[in-house]
Amino acid sequence: MNAPLTPAQHDSLQKSERQSQIVRALQAHLPAHALIWQAEDTTPYECDGLTAYRQRPLVVALPETEAQVAAVLKTCHGLGVPVVARGAGTGLSGGAMPHALGVTLSLAKFNRILKVDPVSRTAVVQCGVRNLAISEAAAPFNLYYAPDPSSQIACTIGGNVAENSGGVHCLKYGLTLHNVLRVRGFTAEGEPVEFGGEALDAPGLDLLALVIGSEGMLAVTTEVTVKLVPKPQLARCIMASFDDVRKAGDAVAAVIAAGIIPAGLEMMDKPMTAAVEDFVHAGYDLDAAAILLCESDGTAEEVEEEIGRMTAVLRGSGAIAIAVSTSEDERMKFWSGRKNAFPASGRISPDYMCLDSTIPRKRLADILLAIQEMEKKYNLRCCNVFHAGDGNLHPLVLFDANDPDELHRCELFGADILETSVAMGGTVSGEHGVGVEKLNSMCVQFTAAENEQMFGVKRAFDPAGLLNPGKVIPTLQRCAEYGKQVVRGGRLPHPDLPRF
Ligand SMILES: Cc1cc2nc3c(=O)[nH]c(=O)nc-3n(C[C@H](O)[C@H](O)[C@H](O)COP(=O)(O)OP(=O)(O)OC[C@H]3O[C@@H](n4cnc5c(N)ncnc54)[C@H](O)[C@@H]3O)c2cc1C
Repeated sequence: MNAPLTPAQHDSLQKSERQSQIVRALQAHLPAHALIWQAEDTTPYECDGLTAYRQRPLVVALPETEAQVAAVLKTCHGLGVPVVARGAGTGLSGGAMPHALGVTLSLAKFNRILKVDPVSRTAVVQCGVRNLAISEAAAPFNLYYAPDPSSQIACTIGGNVAENSGGVHCLKYGLTLHNVLRVRGFTAEGEPVEFGGEALDAPGLDLLALVIGSEGMLAVTTEVTVKLVPKPQLARCIMASFDDVRKAGDAVAAVIAAGIIPAGLEMMDKPMTAAVEDFVHAGYDLDAAAILLCESDGTAEEVEEEIGRMTAVLRGSGAIAIAVSTSEDERMKFWSGRKNAFPASGRISPDYMCLDSTIPRKRLADILLAIQEMEKKYNLRCCNVFHAGDGNLHPLVLFDANDPDELHRCELFGADILETSVAMGGTVSGEHGVGVEKLNSMCVQFTAAENEQMFGVKRAFDPAGLLNPGKVIPTLQRCAEYGKQVVRGGRLPHPDLPRF
């Protein structure tokens, strides 16, 4: 194996020469249609859902078989070329943003459902299968795959595993981590590897838990065994309006404190409600300061009892209006607004940046009020939608990427939200991963020693540092620089990232 090229070597080796070298090497293993490198062909891969940062890769490889994945990884390892795995590119933290001198490994062609087993209630799927397609395949057996990111129509299970994705129903049914039994894939050197197993517990260290959420930095996933759960007989949703965000935030904490785990417990603030109502006409209360959607599922008796208890708690917490869905159509209508929160924000602003931090439930109102102050400070609007039951925020900061100053203020606004969340006892990342977006804020969340431990894990899996390098874990130097900027009060969140 050759050592990775140094920056000086990179400089001396012309980019196009390097590109030709990689293409020639990969052509020995992949058919012509599985390799692209012309700028007009690689441009669609230049970013993920975090569109503010873009970078074309040198080459995009689209393997169709595991043998080809192994060959791409082996070849890149031999040449010291960084590899960035890519699913559907719906990630919101820049995790799949290409490396300027690397290969983007698209797993789009790994889109087959290999087995649905209603007896063991599992499905074996290739990594490029869409999240929703798993539930569609399981539906004839009255089963489904529970984690439901709002992007589930497009995002892949490989991306879900890499990000440990969540969704509206994860409060009750758990994240990806709780719903995956086995991951098969390849190391950076192109060697096959399996984590977990078909049984509930696998012998040895729990490397499955380590790999889930590792953002493509430890291994490339090709196949996943997921758990399936029975479809609930019935689901009903409460829509509750509040005239005060503090009352709404406290109501969330009160529902959980009452010993209820709703199937979903989501919150939207007034600007978000206005944006989605104009888009999907779900019948939301436009005068409300905040709206809660609170779902119960199970047997008819369980749902009736839980809806009664939740309604009482919400009334006791000061809800000014409560509606309970009386049909599946009405339930879907209640959810249609929440599920369309991101596209609705896209209708009212040229660009938006979706943040993703967590805070303790009891601080929901505090963070909303803090964000309102930040809107004035950075002179930008923000709409808020929360997985409130999980304390997982999704502030969407609205901006125009064509205006560099707006992008800069948006970055500062985002960093402020993440770091205020940490100050309130939360974390910089809930379910969208760190990617490149939250690198600096990781310096605030973790000590140098903690970040170094993460690097240690990375090195154990990928000693040459070729899988998705430069993401997720901040270097000591980055944290030192960021610290200086914070002290000077003039932060440049991401001076090193290729901008829109
Ligand atoms: C409108 C919208 C709504 C969303 N809602 C939610 C939500 O409710 N909950 C939530 O958690 N997320 C949500 N997301 C974020 C995103 O959809 C998830 O992070 C999703 O899991 C990404 O999957 P993907 O296939 O698009 O992965 P990509 O964006 O292609 O990649 C994401 C990361 O996974 C790595 N990766 C991808 N495939 C593999 C593989 N086979 N092996 C190794 N690494 C791999 C990449 O390198 C990258 O680091 C939303 C995004 C959008 C645009």
